[in-house]
Amino acid sequence: MPRLVHVIGAGLAGLAAAVRLQRRGVQIALHEAAGQAGGRCRSYYDRTLAATLDSGNHVVLAGHGETLDYARAIGAADAFTGPDEPAFAFMDLAARSRWSVRFSRSRLPLWIADANARVPGTRLPDYLTVLPLLFARPGRTVAQTMPCAGPLWERLLRPLYLCALNIEPRDASAELASAMLREALSIGGEAFRPLTARNGLSSAFIDPALRMLQHGGAAIRLDSPLQGIAFDDASRRAIALDFDSGRVLLGADEAVVLAVPGAAASALVPQLQAPLEHTAIITLHFAVDPPPGLAMPMVLINGTAGWLNAAPGRLSATIHDAGTLLRLAPDELAPRVWADVAAAASLPVEPLPAWQIASDAQAVFAATPQEELRRPSARTRWNNLTLAGDWTATGLPASIEGAIRSGRKAADLLLS
Ligand SMILES: Cc1cc2nc3c(=O)[nH]c(=O)nc-3n(C[C@H](O)[C@H](O)[C@H](O)COP(=O)(O)OP(=O)(O)OC[C@H]3O[C@@H](n4cnc5c(N)ncnc54)[C@H](O)[C@@H]3O)c2cc1C
Repeated sequence: MPRLVHVIGAGLAGLAAAVRLQRRGVQIALHEAAGQAGGRCRSYYDRTLAATLDSGNHVVLAGHGETLDYARAIGAADAFTGPDEPAFAFMDLAARSRWSVRFSRSRLPLWIADANARVPGTRLPDYLTVLPLLFARPGRTVAQTMPCAGPLWERLLRPLYLCALNIEPRDASAELASAMLREALSIGGEAFRPLTARNGLSSAFIDPALRMLQHGGAAIRLDSPLQGIAFDDASRRAIALDFDSGRVLLGADEAVVLAVPGAAASALVPQLQAPLEHTAIITLHFAVDPPPGLAMPMVLINGTAGWLNAAPGRLSATIHDAGTLLRLAPDELAPRVWADVAAAASLPVEPLPAWQIASDAQAVFAATPQEELRRPSARTRWNNLTLAGDWTATGLPASIEGAIRSGRKAADLLLS
């Protein structure tokens, strides 16, 4: 077991690795390129809205066991909120119709036999059409594996898979879609209970982890991008880390978890393959009080916005797979998205409330079969260097759960 591990990157993958290693008695040095920790999952103060916003609407599911374990480990188990029932609210913006899908908590999917719980317009046999997905083969898309049409697809599977995979689900990796389905079925309907961070992402995922690491004696270095790694072929070890501030030599009892995005990792580790294609997410925050009783989060279909979240004084909409909308000027997009949000929240379309936009063109790797094959495992050919990040081969799409699992795996490989 190493005495000291340098964790590079303080996103969720790096923090999860650092927390796990420190709990096993390993000394931690955490190096982060940015001026703050959290990577793509954090909160920041926005002057336009004079409010603390999240870097995007993040939803986790109650079935995401490692996410909840991580939250417990950092003392943030009570930082989440969500409906008591495993249910999702939907609205079809074109048809102006609303419904909820209410999963049964048990492993037996009894909800599909209940016309008031299942997707409106579906019949029991429709649910059998997903069965081929359970046996998905690598390299195939969802459309090559199961029928992608009809009310079950349009009103439940496509919208949920679009949120999770951030790509048109028909073109997505059937293997990834299958893994999510299999995990959910093994847990039961409770797996689908949506949870959001009550007081923002940083207070749920980032700040408590930093406090715990600091308290345990970790050295936390922000504004400290790793510029290069020196390797020794004979011992198959990383032997030095190069920062702007100078070179850090790695002792025989030191190791590295590289938890940076795939492109950054490829630039640092020779011959490392990582996903190349990414897809965009756009988030729009509107400064408005959510009407009381509004079911949250809400999945929106047949509009521009795809997902609606609420926080005190704010409604926030997410557009998944938003590449084609990146060319629109923000003040063209905002009223269009607000029209969807106003319809969903039964609010007047005029006046347009104060708003803020956050566009991330490279939000997550594209969950296609081709990119799935490019995801490397946590183990590398270097004995004291492991990889972590949502882009590594976690078996899940880019997600909080995937990032945290990858961090745990990278840590466990070094511990063993
Ligand atoms: C808008 C948006 C919405 C999302 N919504 C959801 C959701 O609803 N549910 C969900 O589960 N997931 C969601 N995700 C995905 C989730 O945020 C990511 O999967 C997760 O945060 C990735 O964590 P990570 O640690 O792998 O990577 P990152 O968060 O990218 O962390 C990598 C870190 O490495 C640092 N770094 C880079 N280069 C260097 C270097 N050379 N030296 C040192 N540090 C470096 C970066 O600054 C960064 O802090 C969303 C993502 C986005 C962008």
